[in-house]
Amino acid sequence: MKYNVTEKGFYGQFGGAFIPEMLYPNVEELRQKYLQIMNEASFQEEFQNLLEHYVGRPTPLYFAKRLSEQYNTKIYLKREDLCHTGAHKINNTIGQILMAKRLGKKRIIAETGAGQHGVATATVCALMGLECIVYMGEIDIERQAPNVARMKMLGAEVRPATSGSKTLKDATNEAIRDWINNPTDTFYIIGSVVGPHPYPDMVARFQSIISKEIKSQLLDLENKENPDYVIACVGGGSNAAGAFFEFLDNENVKLIAVEAAGHGIDSGESAATSVLGKIGIIHGSKTLLMQTEDGQITEPYSISAGLDYPGVGPLHAHLHDVKRADFEAITDDEAMQAGLNLCKTEGIIPAIESAHALAALTKRTFKPNNIVVINLSGRGDKDLNTYINYFGY
Ligand SMILES: *Cc1c(COP(=O)(O)O)cnc(C)c1O
Repeated sequence: MKYNVTEKGFYGQFGGAFIPEMLYPNVEELRQKYLQIMNEASFQEEFQNLLEHYVGRPTPLYFAKRLSEQYNTKIYLKREDLCHTGAHKINNTIGQILMAKRLGKKRIIAETGAGQHGVATATVCALMGLECIVYMGEIDIERQAPNVARMKMLGAEVRPATSGSKTLKDATNEAIRDWINNPTDTFYIIGSVVGPHPYPDMVARFQSIISKEIKSQLLDLENKENPDYVIACVGGGSNAAGAFFEFLDNENVKLIAVEAAGHGIDSGESAATSVLGKIGIIHGSKTLLMQTEDGQITEPYSISAGLDYPGVGPLHAHLHDVKRADFEAITDDEAMQAGLNLCKTEGIIPAIESAHALAALTKRTFKPNNIVVINLSGRGDKDLNTYINYFGY
C-alpha cells in the first residue's frame, strides 16, 4: 500500500488539511470516522445495493474491436458513460450521501463549475430526501443553463457566487463560508479527489469500484486481472483515481493520466497542471496548481468543462512527482478529433473529457498483445452543443 494516504493525509509532500480553524471540528469528525463507517457491513451493503440497482453497475468493460484494429493493440473501454446521470461522478456522491446520513447530517452543500457535480449531488439528495444547496459562479450559471435546470428539477437550490471571477473557485469559497456558518447539521459533498484530508482518500475509495470491476472483468475476458495500461483523463482526478486505485502498487500496470492542454501548453489558455503547476494550496490541500508569480490562482481553460480545473488532487501530484504515472497533455483539437473518431468507429459519443483520454492513443505505440484499458468517464450528450459548434453539424 505504498501509494496510500498517510495518517495525517499526505501523499509524499502533497495533501494535508489546510483549513480555517472554524472548520476543524467538521473535518476532524469526518477524518476520525470515515474509514470505520465505510468498512461497516451495513454501509457496504447499502452502497453496493445502490450502485447495482440505481447507478446500473457493474458498467461493461467493452472490447473495442474496430478501435483496437486502428491502433493495432487490444483496447477495452470501461463504460462509466453508462452510469445513471451519464458519468462516474454518481459513484462518489452516492458514497458521500450515505456518509452524511451516518453522521446524522440533514443538509447538503456542494459547489460546481460546469454543473456535473451539482447534478450528481442534487440527484442523490432527491434520492434520500435531503435539502441540497449548490453554489455556482454567476458566469457558470449563465454558461451551463441545462445543468442549472436539471438541478432545480431535482429539487436543489442553486445559489450564485457573485464575487471574484464568478466561477468555480468563487463557488468553492461560498460553499466553505456556508460550512463555517453551519458546522453541525451540514455535510459538504466534494466532487473530486481534492479538498482537505480525508476527502481525497474518501473519494478515491468510493471511485475505486471502477478498478475493482476492471480486475474481475479482465479475469473473465482475458484470464488475467491486470492490464498493461490504464488511461484516464484528469480534471481534479477522481475518475483516474478510481481507475488506477487497485493497480497503484503493481508497477507492471502503466498508468497514463491525461490533462487538457486547451489551445496548447504555451498558449496561456490551458489546464495542464502537471506541466504548468507549482506547489501551492487550493481547496484546503497542498498540491500542484496553476498560479501567478505572487501565488494567485490562474483561470484554467479547456474546451471540456470538466477538465477546466486549476489544480490536480494530491494523489495525482504525488504520482507525477515520483513518476508512477505518465502525464500527457492533449489539446482541444486533438480531443475533438479523438471524440469524433470514437463515434465513427464504435458508435459511442463520448464526453469531451473522456475524448482527451482517447486521444492519448495517438501519442505512443502499443504492442499488438498489450491490453489497454481506457476509462470512458462520461457520455457526450451534455457536450452536443460544443461538438456542433466545433464540427459545424
Ligand atoms: C467531471 C468530469 C471529469 C473530470 O473530473 P475528475 O474528478 O478528474 O474525474 C471527467 N469526465 C467527466 C465525464 C466528468 O463529468
